[in-house]
Amino acid sequence: MVASVSLIEDDPRIRSALVRVLAARGHAVRAASTAMDGLRQVVEFPPDVVVLDLGLPDMDGSELLKMMRAVTAVPVIVATARDDETEIVRLLNLGADDYVVKPFSGEQLDARIGAVLRRAGASRDAANVVVGELRINLKSREATLGGRPLDLARKEFDLLSFLALNAGTVVTKPELLAEVWRQPLGGGDKTVDVHLSWLRRKLGETAAEPRYLQTVRGVGVKLVAPE
Ligand code: CA
Repeated sequence: MVASVSLIEDDPRIRSALVRVLAARGHAVRAASTAMDGLRQVVEFPPDVVVLDLGLPDMDGSELLKMMRAVTAVPVIVATARDDETEIVRLLNLGADDYVVKPFSGEQLDARIGAVLRRAGASRDAANVVVGELRINLKSREATLGGRPLDLARKEFDLLSFLALNAGTVVTKPELLAEVWRQPLGGGDKTVDVHLSWLRRKLGETAAEPRYLQTVRGVGVKLVAPE
């Protein structure tokens, strides 16, 4: 798996050796030799993964890890000289995704990068719900239909996501009121009906000729992939 890597390491020999090995494996590597340069680089050129040496001249690497976690969820692999469990648990709790213990080989680091990226990719996929040509990203709150972005109001997005997460299952109006509007009682199904008809229009269909939104009379509604 080829990645853009931000390498923060102050030792010039280790740094150039790692840059060489990672580049030889097809990764695009940007290197920094201080914590502040590293942080700036990660913010300015967001990489797929950060490799962070803990012993840096201007700041302790674990402090930098904390600062990084405040601004980005990018996967971070820490390189530590200490192979003890307390230290490793502390780093993972600070938000490290994985670690390598010095001295380590470029091959081992490359394998760790691959593993971290696979995990990151898997969680990105979990944020995507796909029904037919409809694709919903629950994290970025964006939805597309056949690749075309849908311009949805907040509740329309919530409604669509809930139906998509339950695709193929009939959902009742009281359930929608409870789950989407957080109104278990009252509110009336008018709210649901109105939002369903807005959503339907945005999906380019009508109640008479439904495609994705199928009403089941007297029961509720279900989202399906059209045939
Ligand atoms: Ca160092």
